[in-house]
Amino acid sequence: MEINPRTVLKQIFGYDDFRPLQEEIIDRTLAGKDSLVLMPTGGGKSMCFQIPALIFDGITIVVSPLISLMKDQVQALRANGVKADYFNSSISAEEEVNVINRATNGEIQLLYLSPEKLISVSNTWLNSLNIKFVAIDEAHCVSMWGHDFRPEYTQLKILRNSLSGVPFMALTATADKSARTDIVEQLGLKESKLFISSFDRQNLSIEVRGQVPKKQKLEEIRRFVVRNVNESGIIYCLSRKSTEEVASYLESAGHSVAFYHAGLDAEERERVQNEFITDSTKIIVATIAFGMGIDKSNVRWVIHYNLPKNLEGYYQEIGRAGRDGLPSETRLYYNMRDFMLYSQFADQGANTEMQKEKLKRMLQFAEAKSCRRRILLSYFGEHLTDDCGNCDVCLNPPEYFDGTVLAQKALSGIARMNEKEGIFMLINVLRGSHNAEVHAAGHHNLKTYGAGQDVSFTDWRDYIIQLANQGLVEIMYSEGSALKITSLGWEVLKGERTIRLTSPVSNKEKSRQKIKASPTVDESELNTHLLTELKKLRNSLAREANVPAYIIFNDKSLNAMASAMPVTENAFLDIPGVGLHKMEKYGTKFMEVIQKYKSVDKPKKIPTTEITFVLYQEGFSPEEIANKRNLQVTTINSHLAQLYAEGKPVELQKLVERGVIEKVRVAFDELDRPHEVKPIYEQLEETVSYGEIRMSLAIIMKDE
Ligand code: ADP
Ligand code: ZN
Repeated sequence: MEINPRTVLKQIFGYDDFRPLQEEIIDRTLAGKDSLVLMPTGGGKSMCFQIPALIFDGITIVVSPLISLMKDQVQALRANGVKADYFNSSISAEEEVNVINRATNGEIQLLYLSPEKLISVSNTWLNSLNIKFVAIDEAHCVSMWGHDFRPEYTQLKILRNSLSGVPFMALTATADKSARTDIVEQLGLKESKLFISSFDRQNLSIEVRGQVPKKQKLEEIRRFVVRNVNESGIIYCLSRKSTEEVASYLESAGHSVAFYHAGLDAEERERVQNEFITDSTKIIVATIAFGMGIDKSNVRWVIHYNLPKNLEGYYQEIGRAGRDGLPSETRLYYNMRDFMLYSQFADQGANTEMQKEKLKRMLQFAEAKSCRRRILLSYFGEHLTDDCGNCDVCLNPPEYFDGTVLAQKALSGIARMNEKEGIFMLINVLRGSHNAEVHAAGHHNLKTYGAGQDVSFTDWRDYIIQLANQGLVEIMYSEGSALKITSLGWEVLKGERTIRLTSPVSNKEKSRQKIKASPTVDESELNTHLLTELKKLRNSLAREANVPAYIIFNDKSLNAMASAMPVTENAFLDIPGVGLHKMEKYGTKFMEVIQKYKSVDKPKKIPTTEITFVLYQEGFSPEEIANKRNLQVTTINSHLAQLYAEGKPVELQKLVERGVIEKVRVAFDELDRPHEVKPIYEQLEETVSYGEIRMSLAIIMKDE
């Protein structure tokens, strides 16, 4: 009987539809032809080779460089009832023999191999297998032009040549044009067709924050983590030392966190990774080595503590968030120091020019003042027609003003200090500071001393960095970070040229909280109690089977169960991610929980104010709650007012200013105590929000 890809998709993996290109790629493979597949992380590459592998009657070889990835994929496949195995340096000699036996007896459908193992066994037992298809994952590793070259990959061509009648598929999430040609050549693919799917991951918000001093950066990260409490996330750092620093900072703030870098021994690294995968550690602070090959679908956020080396790496790393398609946040911190440091590294390595060029592109992206997603995607050859609405630039578009006079003040300060001082001294001089160093150097006698008193310290720093970015001054890292004026800078100083500056981004958390724009399900629609029960069941099943929880069902599937509440086999099979095998194995258990929940006659939905109250008790501010729930702040304030009126312990007085309450009291009385809020809102000429009016009224009524 002819097995059809769509049937496999539904019955094995539990999905109704293919994602773009998946079906074409599968069909081409089934027709015996070679392909190169470019899809972003989380785009669904695995399905492209797993489905043909299940249709061919023979064995499929999957080459993958990452041991953790193999293990993860094999576990996920087995959970769906697929006969999969892996063969790499992590398994015992005894297990090796077992795998070889199973493979030779035709009991394995997909066999994952590391490239070095593959090469070492290619002339022995591998030869005798009925190989029908070969998939090469992370194929960019074969290319010198990639950023992750692995010499063993170049030997895979031998395999291609010895298996001439078998289709090959190379897959990667990162390959620019030169790397693509290289992959095809190096692997010896024949008449290979290139498939590129959209790299646009709309569920990821993009935010970049530049020149944030370390202390503030740590504090911002701490707040970010609080806002995303109980969600999994990764923080990428440049150095081992900073991974440890950041981890201990967050740990002392009470968060579940571990660090990960190449200095840990293999066992320790494995342990840290496993704890992350199984959700027992929520946050990992790591050097870039972490995460490759982790198919953890519920990573909700990624922070870069430093500037990544190139956009390929950056995109791959942020791509580890939100693989389940749910809204996820990413934030990049950078400063010029990272840039200088990397430039120096690049000078010492191979491919210097290319690496430096890539680094420059990375910096340009970080400094951009237009939609970041458009810049990012155009780098990967994809041109969006509209701004994304889900990056910091789209959400807080910069406003320009004529900055010539400001620039001249700064430039003249630099000139008068003979281009020997750094940014801090300059700002102190401009602001007329009584700092001892200023006096010691005699700078308080300069003409520019105090010329920029009206601008705050942080704003000055922002402007000066803009001057550097626009090429008016150079920061000489080799000379104690002294500022030097460029020829362009002199032109501005002499009044021969004007320049534009943007207002420093507001540092208020509020403006940033607009990020995460993509709508999420209103929590009140979800049966949170049921969800909690389902998660408990999932965790205990995962512990029993000794696999990560998401291997049983991912969050998306559980959310769907909690809202659709299926209690029949057919309804259960409709849940995304439920195939026949999982239905048989787990269906009854999950449906029992759902049935029990249904029959207990409790209100179907948790009252929306109740959710607000829980979050309030957890210490979140109304803004934070609004952000979490994707509701307006004024709605949350109204909830709090209602809770207060009901006698719940809500400290409303702390949330509304005295003056506002008085204003409302006057309007309330003037209007003869109306039953509605609207007249008060109008009486106050819309200066006080509905939420604040409700809170004030609640306080006024309680007082009486
Ligand atoms: P990649 O290997 O490209 O990083 P994966 O193959 O791991 O991505 O897929 C990412 C997620 O998307 C997985 O959870 C996978 O089950 C899911 N997925 C893949 N294809 C589909 C599909 N057609 N419908 C629904 N979910 C899919
Ligand atoms: Zn945008």
